[in-house]
Formats: sequence, structure tokens, C-alpha cells
Amino acid sequence: MENKQTKYIFVTGGVTSSLGKGIVAASLGLLLKSRGYKVTIQKLDPYINVDPGTLNPYEHGECYVTEDGAETDLDLGHYERFLNQATSQANNVTTGKIYQSVIEKERRGDYLGKTVQIIPHITNEIKRRIKMLSRKGDYDIIITEIGGTVGDIESLPYIEAIRQLRWDIGEENCLFIHLTLVPYLAASGELKTKPTQHSVRYLMESGIQADVLVCRTEHELPKSLLSKLAQFCNVKQGSVIQCLDAETIYDVPLMLQEQNFDKIVLEGLHMEIKEEADLTNWKNFLHKHKNPENNVKIALVGKYVSLQDSYKSITEAFTHAGSALDTRVGVEWIYSGDLDEENIQNKLKNVDGILIAPGFGDRGLNGKILACRYARENGIPLFGICLGMQMMVLEFARNILGLEEAESAETNPTTPHPVISLMDEQKNVTNKGGTMRLGNWDCRLKEGSKIAEIYGTKEIKERHRHRYEFNNEYYDDFDRAAFRLTGTNPDTGLVETVEYDNHPFYIGVQFHPEYKSTVAQPHPLFIEFIKAALEYKKN
Ligand code: GLN
Repeated sequence: MENKQTKYIFVTGGVTSSLGKGIVAASLGLLLKSRGYKVTIQKLDPYINVDPGTLNPYEHGECYVTEDGAETDLDLGHYERFLNQATSQANNVTTGKIYQSVIEKERRGDYLGKTVQIIPHITNEIKRRIKMLSRKGDYDIIITEIGGTVGDIESLPYIEAIRQLRWDIGEENCLFIHLTLVPYLAASGELKTKPTQHSVRYLMESGIQADVLVCRTEHELPKSLLSKLAQFCNVKQGSVIQCLDAETIYDVPLMLQEQNFDKIVLEGLHMEIKEEADLTNWKNFLHKHKNPENNVKIALVGKYVSLQDSYKSITEAFTHAGSALDTRVGVEWIYSGDLDEENIQNKLKNVDGILIAPGFGDRGLNGKILACRYARENGIPLFGICLGMQMMVLEFARNILGLEEAESAETNPTTPHPVISLMDEQKNVTNKGGTMRLGNWDCRLKEGSKIAEIYGTKEIKERHRHRYEFNNEYYDDFDRAAFRLTGTNPDTGLVETVEYDNHPFYIGVQFHPEYKSTVAQPHPLFIEFIKAALEYKKN
């Protein structure tokens, strides 16, 4: 039985949204982990969706998937990429999840005789979800990021819950970090502290005194201003940190470390200041990322390109692989709905590789199919992920196997050639939320295949998020034409990876390798794809 007290850090945001709480939380996590502490990061999202799986990527950005199959906020991707450590179902909690469990308990009769209320029932459930992560004593420190901005009606129960939690477990075991904006008024050339003061006061009205302020700013904040903020916001001198706009998100941990952020936090938590974080590997990664010797241009063909956050994990995986190869990976965002027979050559002639993105529904599919064909015929490295792989299959069926009417059952359930079909276990599923094939599944790679060589092993586990699959009735037709089904799930035979023999790099995967790429461990498929693009460019 573990009896060491877990310490809790809460990160709230004020003034505006989108200040980068997720990056600050991930950076702090990295600094503390590098000092030898066991850390995890959790995100509490105040919306009523049970999870972001049903949210539109245009509005909310990518839906990130954990090993254990949670569909989560994209900030969890940052946590994993920074800490090189998996998160889980328990790391993302929404108001929907909280209410769902409280209402289930109410129906079961757990509260019999009581009126079920926000306080204490909802706040208790929030506290339970926060503490759940420390149940097994796995972590010294849990960082909990609260989504939204203080003052939002939706955030109130969360703020109240963390206020209570501090009271429950003692001040010395909790720390409140508040992230705000210090705006710069160009006309008068002034940095303004008032929004931060108001935001801190807002928090105080809910009984929370911020311990540390992190101030997002476009301009260096002078010492006098930091000290004024400390005085007027009632935090210790030295506990106001600036978070200057950075060239890349990967600069942030170093910028915060320079200001002793992690040390201030550990002092605030009454924890031992273990040896300074060693960020040598991180710095090497960053140096190579910023000073690349080569560059390649990759076309990212997808339908959500108007919000680049929709493909966050893919672009970050490019960054990790690019740094490993001393290469800047420039992304050419191509809306698949814009591609047609006439313009395809023009749109793709200058790229060194093509990635066909994941997605849902039928919009822009033709453009994806055209891009697959263009890459196949011109020997351009092609990497298809999930829906991208499915479009590689469709294209090949139509143009090489002569199955002109081949389609995916997702867009045409009555097609005579459903080369992509609904998975058996999906046939009776009617609910949309949380019902896809999700999370880690085993995949066995064929001896001698290119992909087995890339992974350096035959047994892999990757994360999934789909309902449709390659239709194994067509297995032999594809195989005869040198379109190889090189990876399958050992239990079901479900096709997980495809490749084409007559091409320098033509790989499609039913899973999402991008979720697994981290700064410390760039993903091998992304590395090989970028290598192939470099090679293509050379020739
Ligand atoms: N829409 C496809 C399916 O459900 C692909 C999903 C995806 O690309 N994540 O199978």
C-alpha cells in the first residue's frame, strides 16, 4: 500500500482561451519528469459531450486516441509527445462524463433519499476523477489542466471542486497555476497588467488564490512589471513567469526552465528539489529541428485542412522525424475537394511525398483517389493513414484490378465491389459515440515486407479509430497484382497495412501511427517516409 501523498497541480486559464495551457502543462510535466519525478497530466474539459469523438475537427481540431481507446482532446497528444509516456481514459474527463456517472448512480439508487446537486455530487465526482489517477500510487505529481477560461459558467463546478480538494488534502499538497495574457497596446507601446489582475480576482471570488502566474506575452516583460503583477495579484515575488511567444512549442520547456519554473513549483509543493532537469536530448532535437540541412515538401491531402489543428499529431510526427533526419518538412496543405483530373499535376508537381489523411464521410474522396493514382504512377512516396489507406485500396481496385465500380461501403453500402467494407462487429452498432474500433490492437507484419523492415520487428501494436476495413474477399486479387496486404491482426485477419511492390514507397496503414510519435521516439514509419521523400527529391 502506497501512503506517500500525491501532489496536485492545477492549471487554469484567464483573459482569453487558446493561450497554450496544454503546452505549459506539458512543458512543466517534462521538467518535473526530467528531475526524476513520476508525473502525469490530465485534462478536464467543461463541455457536455462525453468525449470529443463526436466533435467536428474543423471546430475542435484533432481527436486524439489513447492506447486504451479513449477519444480525447488534442492536448493529450502534447502531453504524450513531451513526456514520451502514454495517457489513458482517466486522463481526459468532460462534463458529459461527470454527469453521466452521477446520473447512472442516481438511477441505481446510490443517492436514495437525497436531492442530487452540483454541490456536492457533481463536485465530488470531479474530485474522484482527479484523484483516480493517483489510486495506484503510480505518480508523485498529477498536473490537471482545466479547459476553458475562468469566469465561464461551465467551469464553475471544476473551480469549486479544486478549491475543495485543496482544503481536503492540505495547502502544501496543491498548487494553482494561472495562465493569463499580458496584452501589448501597439498604439501606446504599453504592456497591460489589468486583464491579469481581473482574472486573478475572478479566481479569488471562487476561493482560489493563484500561487504562480504564467503570463503569455508577445513582448519581453520587464522585471518591474513582473514584480507589479506579483504585488497586485498577491503571489510571491519570483512566482510570475513570462511565456513569450515562441518560434516552436518545443522551445517552451526551455524558456520556462530558464525562469526556474519547475523549481518554484516544487518549492510551492514542499517537495525536494531534485537534481536539475537534464534536457540535453531535448536541446539536440530542437537544434536539429531549427537548423536543418535538408528540406522536403510533403502534400497533406485531406478535407479538414482549413484548421491545421485537425492534423496535429501528423504534423508533429513530421517534426519529430524531420529533426531526426536533419530535415525541414514543409507541409503543402491540399484540400482534397479541390483536386480534379485537370489540376492534379499542377497541384502536386512540386512535392516530394504525399500523405493521404484520415477522415470520415464522402466529401473530397475523389481528390484523395486522384492523388493516390498520381503518386503511384509517378513513383512519388505515398503514405496513407486510415481513410488514406482505404483510398489507396479503392484507387488500385479501380485502375489496376479493373473493378471500376469499387467503392467503400462507408459511402456506398450497395456497391457491387465493396473493397472496403464495414467490420463485422460494427454491423449492429447504431450509436455514434465511442463505438469505433479504438485504441491499441495487435498487428503481425509479414516476413520480408518493407514495413516489417521499417519497424524492425514483426509484432507491433498501434492505435486505431475506424469502422471500415479492407474486404478480405479481394485478398487474392490484390496480392496477385503485387499490392501486398502485409500486416494483419493475428486474431481476426483484419488487414492493417498495405504496400505495393512496384514503387519506392507506397504504404498504407489502417491504424494511426501519428499518435505514437514523440520527441524522444520519432515514429519509424514517418522517418522512412521522409527518407523516401529526400531520396525522391535527390533524383
Ligand atoms: N472513415 C473510415 C472508417 O471509419 C476511416 C476512419 C479514419 O480515417 N480515422 O473506417
